[in-house]
Amino acid sequence: MKLRHFTIPVFIPMQACPFRCIFCDQEKISSHVKIPAFEEVSRIIDKHLATIPIENSIIELGFFGGTFTGLPLHQQEAYLNAAKPYIETGKISGIRLSTRPDFIGEEILIFLKKHDVKTIELGAQSMKDEVLKKSGRGHKADNTITAAGMIVKNGFRLGLQMMIGLPGDTLDYSLFTATKFVELGAKDVRIYPLVVIKGTPLEKLYNSAKFMPLSLQEAVKTTSEVYKIFEAAGVNIIRTGLHPSEGLLNGEDLIAGPFHVSFKELVLTELWRDIFSKIHKPENTSQISISVAVNELNYAIGYQASNKNVLLEKFKKVSFKIDESLKNREYHVNFY
Ligand code: SF4
Repeated sequence: MKLRHFTIPVFIPMQACPFRCIFCDQEKISSHVKIPAFEEVSRIIDKHLATIPIENSIIELGFFGGTFTGLPLHQQEAYLNAAKPYIETGKISGIRLSTRPDFIGEEILIFLKKHDVKTIELGAQSMKDEVLKKSGRGHKADNTITAAGMIVKNGFRLGLQMMIGLPGDTLDYSLFTATKFVELGAKDVRIYPLVVIKGTPLEKLYNSAKFMPLSLQEAVKTTSEVYKIFEAAGVNIIRTGLHPSEGLLNGEDLIAGPFHVSFKELVLTELWRDIFSKIHKPENTSQISISVAVNELNYAIGYQASNKNVLLEKFKKVSFKIDESLKNREYHVNFY
């Protein structure tokens, strides 16, 4: 039986970040304003465990939203120790955390290993120095290369996060970043399209016409190209698109940019659209039946049936079927 994977998230918004990246307001992006007290972590774990089916599940605790390894050591220890009783009783298998590439070193990795951390995610964002500089990241691509190397060498699972559409970014740069992530040995990735959040330095740039975010269509296209690189390399794509926080959903915190609640669905729709665009209608046929894997059916039909509608411009009748023997974007086509 396939094991299901769950991460119990604990957000520590912008804690210990040495710089404020020009696009970032973790409080608004994650909907978490308050930093949890150490004792609160076990309450968060218990609350989630009550809703997760324990059997056939891998459950991790994840610290996100800040620079975890920038916290004073005693604070890191207090947070990590909160998971200990759950790890000892087998309820939780380990800890994952996110941090900055310039806050990783051999000593901290020894410490994290001792405290059951299994996966380290680096907010790398781009592998192009000019993009990192324009985004106020305060680190270089070399920091990511060094940190990723140390993480892999010390036996941790490496996660890397990238952003699409940063200041100075291009489609080629995004493809370069994704290719580098694969070379660095990333096992997990997250892809976030950049949006302009209220109150960030990026808002000022946007208001003075010095920065223009990608359109939704451009962001979907770029992400779909990046997606192909990760998929081909067998990298686990954990997240595509921003978490739909309340402020983004109701538009209060969103100034501009390619935010969409179904961003991932749009990207997967685009990948299927690309495939279907290469289908040529044989002479004397008017119907098409397409078989796809069960979990790809909705994406193949497309967001709001957009792929089906495009095919209906060529064929009188278009039908989609599930074929249990297919996986990912494998498909069969029959013409009538
Ligand atoms: S390091 Fe991460 S959490 Fe901190 S300001 Fe930058 S993007 Fe935000």
